[in-house]
Amino acid sequence: MNKLTIDDINFSGKRTLVRVDFNVPMKNGVITDETRIAESLPTIKKILSDGGRVILMSHFGRPKGKRNMEFTLKPVADRLSQLLSKPVQFAPDCIGMEVEAIVNGLPNGECLLLENVRFHAEEEANDVNFSKLLASLGDVYVNDAFGSAHRAHASTEGVTKFIKPSISGYLMKKEIEYLGKAVGNPVRPYAAILGGAKISGKIDVIQNLMGKVDVLLIGGGMMFTFYKAQGLEVGNSLVEADKIELAKQLLDEAKQRNINLLLPVDCIIAEKMENESPQQTVFVNQIPRGWSGFDIGPETVRLCQEELKKAKTVVWNGPMGVFELPNFAEGTNAIARLLAGITKTGATTIVGGGDSAAAIAQAGLSESVSHVSTGGGASLEFLEGKILPGIAALTDK
Ligand code: AMP
Repeated sequence: MNKLTIDDINFSGKRTLVRVDFNVPMKNGVITDETRIAESLPTIKKILSDGGRVILMSHFGRPKGKRNMEFTLKPVADRLSQLLSKPVQFAPDCIGMEVEAIVNGLPNGECLLLENVRFHAEEEANDVNFSKLLASLGDVYVNDAFGSAHRAHASTEGVTKFIKPSISGYLMKKEIEYLGKAVGNPVRPYAAILGGAKISGKIDVIQNLMGKVDVLLIGGGMMFTFYKAQGLEVGNSLVEADKIELAKQLLDEAKQRNINLLLPVDCIIAEKMENESPQQTVFVNQIPRGWSGFDIGPETVRLCQEELKKAKTVVWNGPMGVFELPNFAEGTNAIARLLAGITKTGATTIVGGGDSAAAIAQAGLSESVSHVSTGGGASLEFLEGKILPGIAALTDK
């Protein structure tokens, strides 16, 4: 990692503008999952204990550039205050004279949360003047919002042009370390497991990983488009007709490059995507008309186990089936358990964010793998080999 990190700086007396991801799930003003707040604590605590002044900013929901109190961050300030066991001030906006006065009155070792940056359309437009106004609130900028790093917005990218240094917080640092290792310098054998509904969202990931991994395991809804490309009948399973040609090309490419691309050999089928719909386990060439595949089967799990046992680095993105329904969750849960197992014996296991993070949490194994990414879109773009603007903008060491 060639970017300055939070460990490279002493924050004593510094107005530290910290971009966090406090886009937490909330119902009627009550936070229903505070993971994102909890994950920002190490960074906040380090700055406070140095005697720095913490000025937090985040987006929350989609207020579409307008002040809409349905999307106020005030409840987050209250919860953060409880978690830190100290008062957290709340500013009614993120720019402007009143905010400047509050920021300048903030004592060393104290913490303030600014109102939702997306109350201003200039945030997502990455407006230069808005970025300057945000930047004027800090002497140092810390980005700890990995989940927003793939977006070049004012609070993630624009602001870095006007504050130096711009450095990564602990959460960002951890994400870059784990995902960076998987993309750039994996210990081999290196396996990737890709699932999820469609190929269309994962083409770039498949292509980028194909050039890097020793084995690529494909499950989830996207497997059926690959089967269709091989001329198999897949009943009513999810198929992207316009991606069949692409699936053929990917299969050919894997063959030419001698990449071990494994498709499931069996699957769990049902007539309806409903938990109560009677199910059967069949080989993939035996899916009857009118039935659909909703999960990978036990023989496929066994094959995955054979491969994963050998792996020293594993990246997993996308569930193996419709894991939201208990009757189609076993394949996904089994992969989660396999990952947990090989983590114990020394493999580095990385779970991409979004649905895969939800799946491993549902299996109760989030703590049993090396790293669960906090960023859905951001981790996907990282695995695609893209440079994330929020990371690129940080100051080099
Ligand atoms: P993605 O956002 O592309 O990672 O897709 C995640 C979604 O894929 C989850 O909501 C799963 O329910 C869904 N999914 C996984 N396997 C299948 C399948 N065989 N058929 C339909 N949907 C699936």
